[in-house]
Amino acid sequence: MIRTLERLDAVPEIREIIVACESGFQKKVSGLIRRYGIRKVRRVIAGGETRTDSVYHALRKVHPSCPYVLIHDGVRPFLSSGAIRDAIRCFGKDPDSGWVTGRPAVPTIKEVRNGRIEKTLDRAFLWEIETPQLFKKKILTEAYRYFFRQKQKATDDASLVEKIGKPVKVFCCEEENMKITTAQDFRKAKSLFAAPEIRIGSGEDRHGLEKGRPLYLGGIRIPSPKGARAHSDGDVLLHALVDALLGALGLGDIGEFFPDCDPRFRNVRSEKFLKKVLCLVREKEFEIVNVDSTITLEAPKLSPWKKKIQGSVARLIGVKPHAVGVKAKTAERMGPEGEGLAVSANVVVSLRRCVL
Ligand code: MG
Repeated sequence: MIRTLERLDAVPEIREIIVACESGFQKKVSGLIRRYGIRKVRRVIAGGETRTDSVYHALRKVHPSCPYVLIHDGVRPFLSSGAIRDAIRCFGKDPDSGWVTGRPAVPTIKEVRNGRIEKTLDRAFLWEIETPQLFKKKILTEAYRYFFRQKQKATDDASLVEKIGKPVKVFCCEEENMKITTAQDFRKAKSLFAAPEIRIGSGEDRHGLEKGRPLYLGGIRIPSPKGARAHSDGDVLLHALVDALLGALGLGDIGEFFPDCDPRFRNVRSEKFLKKVLCLVREKEFEIVNVDSTITLEAPKLSPWKKKIQGSVARLIGVKPHAVGVKAKTAERMGPEGEGLAVSANVVVSLRRCVL
């Protein structure tokens, strides 16, 4: 539950959190919340006998000025803060509908009564529904109030909203979001936390060289009569690194984030691009394990600068220098690099999902 709360706590759009826990455990849970420095929990309340009771009690404690609510199972600790933000962004596009997180069903599902199959459901229309589920507070309260009075129970919030005739849409969840219910689930969850997800990304960049332009590599200005012809500062190493990071996260490429036709990026230092992408790495809850790079440039010779470039890249991305490889080579007078017409860089990066 603490891991789940840490992820919710890190989402800027979430203003306050109400925790409903098993009756009698409020003190213990409050102590853990204090110990782990979770800031946004406003109340820890005793849950009811069923999920419906617990959510209804919690809903009544939400601050009156809060227009929207997000409900998430405490036993789903794997969803990242970034994925929770994605769900909130989806909801923001159409807040008159409820939004639930889910994924298309994988197994074949059959209706069985007394051990006999009654029918096989068409999997094409079946989804497994998870949390978070997001609603306008007014709509959810109306649904809960109505069904609470009628003593009806539901296994999720959307079912109640559906029953009062309001639309509910599904947001496809692409991350691990398992619910820990059985001892077997708990063993699986432990092993998932023990072996963090690893991602690899690769990037490359090349710029033409021009007399009188500054030459930047890894954030360091290298004395040279020629520098990269570029819209920004033309730091091929940092551009390749940005592409490698975006690649590892599956987010596209540098041109999508910082188009070279955008005047805001004219003569901009590439550290600015890197900073923005490092924020995405953190938002997706990854950290950099190591970076390896190769720069190809005919002249000037980079051997005296490799250590400085290594230190600069390490500082920029917040790792130790030994986690950054910087290799420099010439192209044996072949191709644009070999003829002194271009500088290029290749970068490989590995990321590890942060274990909270
Ligand atoms: Mg470039």
